Amino acid sequence: MVERYACRKCKSIVTTNKCPCGGEAVKNWQGYLIILDPERSEIAKEAKINNRGAYALRV
Ligand SMILES: [Zn+2]
Repeated sequence: MVERYACRKCKSIVTTNKCPCGGEAVKNWQGYLIILDPERSEIAKEAKINNRGAYALRV
């Protein structure tokens, strides 16, 4: 099983403890969130997500 980390800075789900954004990614996160249409998604607005992708709800 591949370990998943979530970035503390941008909440992206990544596979290493270092996110491409430069933030630290941690294993202790909750809630898997997939954003397909950030401009129309209320959840994305609340989480301040501007790009498509997989994110953690809580990091
Ligand atoms: Zn990040």
